[in-house]
Amino acid sequence: MERIMNNIILTGDRPTGNLHLGHYVGSLKTRIELQNKNGYDEYYIMIADTQALTDNANNVDKVKNNIIQVAIDYISAGIDPNKVTIFIQSQVPELFEITAYFMNLVSVSRLQRNPTIKDEIKQRGFEKSLPIGFLNYPVSQAADILAFNANIIPVGEDQMPVIEVTKEIAHSFNNTYGQVFREVKGLLPENKICARLPGLDGKLKMSKSAGNAIYLCDDEKTVREKIMSAYTDPNHIKVSDPGQIEGNIVFAYLDAFCKDEHFEKYLPEYKNLDELKAHYKRGGLGDVKVKLFLNNIINELLTPIRAKRKELEENVDKVYDILFEGGKKARASAQKMLKKIKEAELVAFCDIIPERAEKAAKEYGGEGAKVYTDYKEMLADTGIQIDVVHVCTPNVAHCPITVAAFEAGKHV
Ligand code: ATP
Ligand code: MG
Repeated sequence: MERIMNNIILTGDRPTGNLHLGHYVGSLKTRIELQNKNGYDEYYIMIADTQALTDNANNVDKVKNNIIQVAIDYISAGIDPNKVTIFIQSQVPELFEITAYFMNLVSVSRLQRNPTIKDEIKQRGFEKSLPIGFLNYPVSQAADILAFNANIIPVGEDQMPVIEVTKEIAHSFNNTYGQVFREVKGLLPENKICARLPGLDGKLKMSKSAGNAIYLCDDEKTVREKIMSAYTDPNHIKVSDPGQIEGNIVFAYLDAFCKDEHFEKYLPEYKNLDELKAHYKRGGLGDVKVKLFLNNIINELLTPIRAKRKELEENVDKVYDILFEGGKKARASAQKMLKKIKEAELVAFCDIIPERAEKAAKEYGGEGAKVYTDYKEMLADTGIQIDVVHVCTPNVAHCPITVAAFEAGKHV
């Protein structure tokens, strides 16, 4: 594939549970395809533990325990840690400093009007008491994305309105402080049903928090039980009854996962999904037959993922090492961007102290004066003996201007 230069991909998941089929078709599959096409310069996948705490403040153990689970899910499903930097959000504290600057660029009402946030507030019963952190998660997500100068963000449909907040913050920052960020693009799967895979209950999207998911780590028996209990057409009682496809979860999953070759293998009486649907609609095709077909397809997908998971579970230390190394690499990138942000926003207040020290040193010690920001280093280097306790307070002793003056042999 043609290599498009300067593509930086960033995406992530909340460690609130294992990854499910919605993640697989909504985002994970696209991530693996992008990884295998090599059409990128940098590629980050973030386990958003701090974001997960915004609606799990009383359930810290859940978040903590699922970090490694999500990492194992990634690698089992085909993410290659040699090509992708996988890291834990809280290992990159610069993200929270960037969030603080971005929080001034978006209003509370703007976040409250965001359709995804609105839905999620309702789902979590946060209408009466909304944690500030939860309302703020789109801002922190903007920091996660922009800290890496990422431009391609593979997500499911529910995250598109949240990506809009990132775009708005980037525009607002560029307009106010000068061009730092480029255009960000949320990347949805082409197949519409995959962008928002419904849950087994047929109501909400498949979600860890809604308890309506088939997980990538579910064993064969569990998958079969879940599929057998999936919501279909409540009016399709007898096999001979005509059935409805719309809103029928089993057909929704077939739309997402079924390929023509599956018919040859598991249901050779039909050529393709259209034929199967037509039969179901006119009557004479039972739910059980369709569900068993789906079960075969899902198990074919999950069997190698389960095997890889077993391997990784026996070598968890290796997965922790991957996360630790990923965190270091991610942190180095975020530090560079934080510096750029502070320079653009002219908030590099603390960074001017060494400059002032330099000035003071020249004033007191002449052109050749050397500036120390660590007074112990200066004492060791110069052999100057100072009883610091008598001369000044420890705070002052740490001030580079004072130290510069000391070196010049004067007191301030
Ligand atoms: P939670 O219930 O804790 O919010 P979740 O199941 O919604 O968990 P997230 O970690 O919030 O999962 O989402 C991670 C990524 O997976 C996002 O890009 C999101 O859009 C995508 N995603 C989640 N659920 C689905 C789904 N049912 N269909 C398609 N994509 C999904
Ligand atoms: Mg979610």
